[in-house]
Amino acid sequence: MSSVSASSLVKNLIRTEILALSAYHVPDSSGYIKLDAMENPYLLPQPLREEIAAIVADADINRYPDPNPLALKGKIRELLDLPAGIDVLLGNGSDELIQLLAMALNKPGATLLSVEPSFVMYKMIATFTAMRYVGVPLAADFGLDLAAMLSAIEREQPALVFLAYPNNPTGNLFSAEAVQEIIAASPGLVVVDEAYYAFARDSFIPQLARYPNLLVMRTFSKLGMAGLRLGFLAGSAVWLEQLEKLRLPYNVGVLPQLVAEKLLDNHEVLLQQAAQIMSERAVLFEQLKAIAGVQVYPTEANFLLFRVSQATAVFEGMKRRGVLIKNLNGGHPMLTDCLRVTVGTPEENQRFIVVLQESIG
Ligand SMILES: *Cc1c(COP(=O)(O)O)cnc(C)c1O
Repeated sequence: MSSVSASSLVKNLIRTEILALSAYHVPDSSGYIKLDAMENPYLLPQPLREEIAAIVADADINRYPDPNPLALKGKIRELLDLPAGIDVLLGNGSDELIQLLAMALNKPGATLLSVEPSFVMYKMIATFTAMRYVGVPLAADFGLDLAAMLSAIEREQPALVFLAYPNNPTGNLFSAEAVQEIIAASPGLVVVDEAYYAFARDSFIPQLARYPNLLVMRTFSKLGMAGLRLGFLAGSAVWLEQLEKLRLPYNVGVLPQLVAEKLLDNHEVLLQQAAQIMSERAVLFEQLKAIAGVQVYPTEANFLLFRVSQATAVFEGMKRRGVLIKNLNGGHPMLTDCLRVTVGTPEENQRFIVVLQESIG
């Protein structure tokens, strides 16, 4: 054994599709105005931060977390006004829930279907779990191509469909009627991913009772808790009780549970921040629209997608000037020369506009 190198062992033992992957790249953001990751830019009010400090100080971190935190789940149910029979399952961020769904539905030959361009984790997690993946292109305006979706569903018979509502990285909200047609036509489970629910004007939670094959996934990350890692699935207990079997018992730690409960007790603080972000989003949209050579797309999320003529050069120019956004050029062909900026504080946004104009030249 000792004569064999680790790299040849790795090559023999690790699954081929994993060897072929490159690790998800998170750039070093220290020192930058950070507008690349859809985070809420605001801190919590000082008194609330002190309350959280006291709660953390008293937490039983020597104990395993409660595997079924009923108080936290109760608060989520209450905030969402979930109808009877509709339950929640908690995840370590919604990324973990995507993985859990793929693991649960990946029978031999089963297919995960989504649209493109969309959230890259759907495809990545299909790869991680060795699940077959099909991506259906969006229409040129980034709306759903309903005819293409319905024929792909007919042809592929997907066990699992993900639709981000609003979509990332495009920011738009798909037609609700088209999403309903997709749910009705799907033989498998459809998960509507509402990561940006706080910034959008519509939700599928009221539709949960109507469709036996629908689950809604949400996260608190974009609302201001990205560091806590807390997401959830809402849907019929019949689905969730199967998924619970796969959930690692201690997936949400003691501190995230306690802090999230406190934040949900102060939900209006976060919603106020979201409202501020939405009004800043409207300002940014108009400012971007006014810049020659910039094409900005409609958004119902806390970020804006826009196209320029030399995206990579503009991205690098902005980075040199201390502003970090997301370069989508070179990813999906429909995103050629596209950049994505998260709405920051008013000061950050103004700096972003100045630096963008300098970098366009
Ligand atoms: C950010 C994002 C998520 C992941 O959120 P976490 O809860 O932080 O894992 C899921 N779906 C979409 C569409 C997102 O943009």
